[in-house]
Amino acid sequence: MHEANQLLLHPSRQVGADLYAWFAAGGGEGLNAALADPAAIIPLLRDAGLRGMGGAGFPTWRKWEATAVAGTPGCDRYVVCNANEDEPGTFKDRHLLRWTPHQVIEGALIAALAVDANHVVLYVNPHQEQAIAEVRKAVGQWRGSEPLGRLEKRLGRPLQMEVVATSGRYIGGEETAVISWLEGNFPFPRRKPPFPAESGVAGAPTLLNNAETLANVPHILRNGADWYRALGLGEAVGTKLYSLSGDVLQPGLYELPMGTSLQSLIFDHGGGMLEGKAFKAVFTGGPSNTLLTAADLDVALDFDSVRQRRSRLGTGAMIVVSEGTSIVRRVAEYIEFFAAGSCGQCPPCKCGTFQMARLLDRLDTGHGTVDDLRALQNLCRILPGSGRCGLIDGAVTVVESSLHTFPQEYGLARA
Ligand code: SF4
Repeated sequence: MHEANQLLLHPSRQVGADLYAWFAAGGGEGLNAALADPAAIIPLLRDAGLRGMGGAGFPTWRKWEATAVAGTPGCDRYVVCNANEDEPGTFKDRHLLRWTPHQVIEGALIAALAVDANHVVLYVNPHQEQAIAEVRKAVGQWRGSEPLGRLEKRLGRPLQMEVVATSGRYIGGEETAVISWLEGNFPFPRRKPPFPAESGVAGAPTLLNNAETLANVPHILRNGADWYRALGLGEAVGTKLYSLSGDVLQPGLYELPMGTSLQSLIFDHGGGMLEGKAFKAVFTGGPSNTLLTAADLDVALDFDSVRQRRSRLGTGAMIVVSEGTSIVRRVAEYIEFFAAGSCGQCPPCKCGTFQMARLLDRLDTGHGTVDDLRALQNLCRILPGSGRCGLIDGAVTVVESSLHTFPQEYGLARA
């Protein structure tokens, strides 16, 4: 890959928790640029076109602006780096925090300056033991450092930096569940509105971004919006971390221009399919989206292009499956994961995911009936929108997609 496109995974950034090695590699310059003109930070992110890398691809600057204008001058404000990352197939934020924690922290500090926050929380999945250990060391190095002193002077108040271990549950990554956990409660998602920007941790305006989103920020501050936009292909901007897994020769974490085609990711960078295996489908963006098939190999992997195929880029996870793999089995496993991860606040979600998993298991093992298939299809009709958060909708999406795209695999679908 061309070096210019290695925005986040460039070897020089992989300095672990050593702050001075980070500064020697050009770290700190983004924060310096931000300190020189704090009012320019949010417009710069808008011009750069940075979007949230954790799911929906929401424009980052909008969240930042909403947090900056909420509350009253001088009130408590939080910036939270959400690194819960517990969905199957996604393994990017843990890598950033393990090897390059300072670019993430620097991004969070720039966010604090932009929204006038006095709290920065690194919310990290404790199952990622090395990542959380490096983040703890890295935060310790920032405390009392000269750049942090300059930032606090500019803020006019102390900046509390904290590393919080998440609950380690999938649902703990949902943004209102993050707030519940940080307030000392079980990570139950809450109804929105209010959105975290208006009322987050302890009622304070709260900005949540994932680690990949924040890691981009120092580089944009340092190099400018045009430079960042030019890293993408076509209309897409910047780079993307793609977590490639499944039946490919070279699974791994790839940083490529945003807009790289699915074909290129799998066959150029991922080395193609395992020997003797033929491509069948991809669970994209984690296992809660519409499946992409061979007809979609030409799709550009950016938020808008994938959405045009009725799927979602999501986290950038691409789980590749080959011919001979039972889609029903795979979907059953993912729905079991969602059933176990459901927090249980909404009975349709807890019971519905459990029931879908049971039906899928029966259909996959040849014990299903026509009534089972009808029950599954009915659940797909009645469950969407019945939960406080998106878990149930995501679970239904992947089941519906498998029914639509691979009806023959359900056997009874043609009965
Ligand atoms: Fe919990 Fe499911 Fe309701 Fe979300 S939809 S709040 S996971 S029960």
